[in-house]
Amino acid sequence: MPSSTHDAVRAQLEAKRERLLERVADLSKTPELGAAQGFGKRIGDGTVEAVSRLTDIGVGGSAEVGLARVERALAKLDEGTYGQCDACGAEIPPARLQAMPDGVHCLACAAAQRRTAPPRRR
Ligand SMILES: [Zn+2]
Repeated sequence: MPSSTHDAVRAQLEAKRERLLERVADLSKTPELGAAQGFGKRIGDGTVEAVSRLTDIGVGGSAEVGLARVERALAKLDEGTYGQCDACGAEIPPARLQAMPDGVHCLACAAAQRRTAPPRRR
């Protein structure tokens, strides 16, 4: 991919990151939601709990998850791996990247992740 394309993608991703950061900042101004969801959770099960909690919250979750994805896509631009699947290394079809510039997985891996979500870490 020519670097001029990457510049355009980067600008697009950075604009999206701005919007998501505002969104997340707005949401953190209403602590009731996060606090209520946080009670009664053991810290030990961190990752899985956090992921399911984000999914439960919905709006807040999607803003934060979206932000994480945008930042990962920007990191991949820096690494020079943009356009390659984060999971299997396959090339992500340009049409998919056009539709979803923050996509970091090929179609197969994205589908597999949705099936197996939330991810387990040990
Ligand atoms: Zn893949």
